[in-house]
Amino acid sequence: MADSTHAGTGSVATKAGRSGRGRDFRVIAGVAIAVLLGLALIGQLTWISAVLAAVVVAAVCIGWFFGSADPTVEINTDEIAALEARRKADAERKFRTALVEALPEAALYIDAQGKVEAANKSARAELRFTTTGALLTVIVRRPELLDAVDAARSTGEPQRFEIVQRDETDRHFACVAAPLGSGVLVSLHDFTDIKRMEMARVDFLANASHELRTPLTSLAGFIETMRGPARDDPEARDRFLDIMQSQADRMRRLISDLLSLSRIELVEHRPPEGQADLAAVVIEARDALAPVARERGVELRVTGAVGAVNVIGARDELAQVVQNLIDNAIKYSEKGSAVDIEVLAGVRAGEASAIAGRRWEDAGRMSIASAPASSNAASFAVLRVTDSGPGIERQYLPRLSERFYRVDQGRGLKPGTGLGLAIVKHVVQRHRGEFLVESEPGRGSAFGVVLPMANMH
Ligand code: ADP
Repeated sequence: MADSTHAGTGSVATKAGRSGRGRDFRVIAGVAIAVLLGLALIGQLTWISAVLAAVVVAAVCIGWFFGSADPTVEINTDEIAALEARRKADAERKFRTALVEALPEAALYIDAQGKVEAANKSARAELRFTTTGALLTVIVRRPELLDAVDAARSTGEPQRFEIVQRDETDRHFACVAAPLGSGVLVSLHDFTDIKRMEMARVDFLANASHELRTPLTSLAGFIETMRGPARDDPEARDRFLDIMQSQADRMRRLISDLLSLSRIELVEHRPPEGQADLAAVVIEARDALAPVARERGVELRVTGAVGAVNVIGARDELAQVVQNLIDNAIKYSEKGSAVDIEVLAGVRAGEASAIAGRRWEDAGRMSIASAPASSNAASFAVLRVTDSGPGIERQYLPRLSERFYRVDQGRGLKPGTGLGLAIVKHVVQRHRGEFLVESEPGRGSAFGVVLPMANMH
């Protein structure tokens, strides 16, 4: 910024100094010449020596005049002011960049021209842009943010607002746009965790109280009957105790599934960081469910990859996925039939979905969860669980992963909570994977999961 008091003054006024030295020069030269002339007149000096002396004095005087001149005669104050302004602007810019980088939350600075001057790493990641220097309106198309920046600039007051980044998993940000210098500093605080906690608590309470009411009422009814009319009827009492046992089991399953669902929903926006061996998880689930399968006369067949299949994932959560899918397949299979569990490794992105969920020509199919664009792994693992049960009519497929939704096509409900597939969907979404189903009444159902692999195969 140019300082107007300095601008335009031109050369520094060394004229006063120059005229002062001129006068001194004349006086010294005059005195010297007068002395020489005097000496010559009274015969103390020959004319030749007088002239020589005058030349020497004149030379000394000229030498002094120029030798004593101020060396910084030509100073352009306009340039100095411009230089100073540039230096100041640079220092201010560096300060703002350092400030933005030092903030632990996502932060960016928008200059007086509306350009993004500085942005830290989290701001670039959250608002999805890579370079600074362009107009904010071009880089970030978020009306709430643009309005707040305008308002901060025009009112001079900090503006508070919220942004919801819509994705597979919504992200919530509490933001402030505050005027700073000639621009606006914007900071974004990610409070998704708190928001999710709030939602999970509300959902859990609502679901638990609603779903537990029926088995609880039934239990209370049986207790009353056993104390009253059935007091002396041992046969009825045994029957009632069986029913009460199954109601208690149902309550336990409901609580356990609801807790799993809440837990996974809380962390769904944060992808897992560890690795898990999907093949080992499958073998474990098969072994755990073998007794159930045997009891129902269903054979469990595992095929596909030999050796470890390392995916980016949380082992416990993947175990739940595999268990829920095999459990359903057993539950809906006829006695004497088989359930196929396939695990494939190193499948390329373009092929994975087809292998997982698009194999039967006449089947109804749908993608229950699909990987967001951010999942750019080079290779994928596929898990596919196929049964030859009754299948699911096409029209019911879109609702399968809804909480508590259970298809009842007049074939009677199997024991279950209606939460199993919802849990699978949320785990897969957290893992940035895909969850597909294809089903053909009369042929059976196949549930496929695609997960990004941890390393190349
Ligand atoms: P549930 O505890 O009832 O099994 P899920 O969320 O796991 O809950 O499944 C929801 C519904 O989807 C089930 O009630 C059932 O109607 C249907 N379903 C799930 N898996 C299968 C399958 N392998 N074959 C037929 N229907 C299935």
